[in-house]
Amino acid sequence: MPQKMLQFVHVDRRMPDKRDAEARRHDFNEIYEGFDDRGAADQAARCSQCGVPFCQVHCPVHHNIPDWLRFTAEGRLEEAYEIAAAANTFPEVCGRICPQDRLCEGNCTIEQSKHGTVTIGTVERYIADTAWEKGWVKPRMPSAERGQSVGIIGAGPGGLAAAEQLRAKGYEVHVYDRYDRIGGLMIYGIPGFKLEKHIVQRRAEQFIKQGVVFHTNFEVGRDATLAELRARHGAVLIAAGVYKARDLQAPGSDLGNIIPALKYLTASNRQGLGDSVPEYDSGALNAAGKDVVVIGGGDTAMDCVRTAIRQGARSVKCLYRRNRANMPGSQREVNHAEEEGVELVWQSAPEGFEGKDGLVAGVNAHRIHLGVADATGRQTPQVIAGSTYKLEADLVIKALGFDPEDLPTLFGEPDLRVSRWGTVTVNFRTMMTNLDGVFAAGDIVRGASLVVWAIRDGRDVAAHIHSYLQRKAEVSMPESQESVAAE
Ligand code: FAD
Ligand code: SF4
Ligand code: SF4
Repeated sequence: MPQKMLQFVHVDRRMPDKRDAEARRHDFNEIYEGFDDRGAADQAARCSQCGVPFCQVHCPVHHNIPDWLRFTAEGRLEEAYEIAAAANTFPEVCGRICPQDRLCEGNCTIEQSKHGTVTIGTVERYIADTAWEKGWVKPRMPSAERGQSVGIIGAGPGGLAAAEQLRAKGYEVHVYDRYDRIGGLMIYGIPGFKLEKHIVQRRAEQFIKQGVVFHTNFEVGRDATLAELRARHGAVLIAAGVYKARDLQAPGSDLGNIIPALKYLTASNRQGLGDSVPEYDSGALNAAGKDVVVIGGGDTAMDCVRTAIRQGARSVKCLYRRNRANMPGSQREVNHAEEEGVELVWQSAPEGFEGKDGLVAGVNAHRIHLGVADATGRQTPQVIAGSTYKLEADLVIKALGFDPEDLPTLFGEPDLRVSRWGTVTVNFRTMMTNLDGVFAAGDIVRGASLVVWAIRDGRDVAAHIHSYLQRKAEVSMPESQESVAAE
């Protein structure tokens, strides 16, 4: 077979076509078309098959990227998928929404040598989508039942990654979630134009076929305490994410139509899923015809501005206190937002809000000077005296980040140890909390992070839970049966 790889010297980096910004403004469909077979093979063949692949080092799940790129270039797609799926529970999701510019692609050797990175994420998406089309994605059935069970709090990517691994090993797995659907923020946070919902739902169906038992509309704290789950299961995993929205205290911040980002995005996602959403229909959580100001500079802020555009807002501005170079959000998402008609208002912060009839009517903002760098290396925002100006607004969305809820109180377990930020504290060698047999993973340990990190944590914690339950089984088993249980 002729040498297919190392084509980066002949073939330029190319992404699949992106839908025209004007067309994108009117629907919630994803904005990139997929690669066709030729396009994917050509782009995969640009890889130089590095001996030390920095792409893999910087991918949180340590995907064997060079191998699946080579198989894609050679048209061996089923093998490519098997390799991708061995490391990642949701390759079709990560291919779409990982911030690749900061992870795999940002560390690709040929990017460093100015040839333009291999389009790793898009090839991953292509491989996984092809696997779904061809019927290669199968539930990972256990070969034998172990007779032990695990309770998982949270059906987000962290809980689901753990559930799949544990079920495949033969544990009875019960996942409890207070939402009515499986997927966590992949369903109710991230908008469809980044990740269409059917992509998550078809994966969720595989977990159901695998035998994972889901208890939706089940809130731990309301429907059971943590102690009750511990009594029901051999081990419990807390993968509950972080949901307490950071707030803003400023004159007028209690006016109507000043809303938290996740409430707004959840209503939009529910509406897209066909649910009845009275607050969307009444206009309370709908940007149609409004002047919208979103406060914040992360990916959640970008999701809000782009959702508002699609809902038919009259104008959409994003107010951020630092500059473009210091935004926490992905540059790629900022570019998409600007293409779609969002105005980024840099180095500005709200000072207060004006109202009319109890509803917000404008934002008083002041300009910010970026001063000397602090201990973290980031320049400190300083208000410029006398720089106040007004922005028209009849909907203000606060996208200021998330903190953990007070889990010890919520779960009725005051002994559960948390950090001063409220994240659950674990022993990093075992991922177990201070409570025997209670583990934690994902955002609730890291603080607000990424889907791919939650997947990594979910897979790691599954391995720790497996070791823990094996030890437990050995202790309670007659000696003659020990060799049967050992894997
Ligand atoms: P979650 O996905 O939050 O899942 C936790 C689950 O626990 C939820 O389903 C919740 O209902 C359930 N739960 C919580 N408390 C209880 C309880 N008491 N009882 C029962 N169930 C409970 N990441 C990316 O990689 N790329 C992106 O583009 C991206 N965009 C984002 C956009 C938005 C708007 C937001 C908010 C986040 C985004 N993220 C993105 C981050 C990503 O979604 C999270 O890092 C990831 O979902 C964390 O996974 P998790 O499993 O830890 O938690
Ligand atoms: Fe890149 Fe994310 Fe895929 Fe890893 S999982 S290769 S970081 S897109
Ligand atoms: Fe290929 Fe880039 Fe990874 Fe090297 S760093 S193996 S060129 S994708």
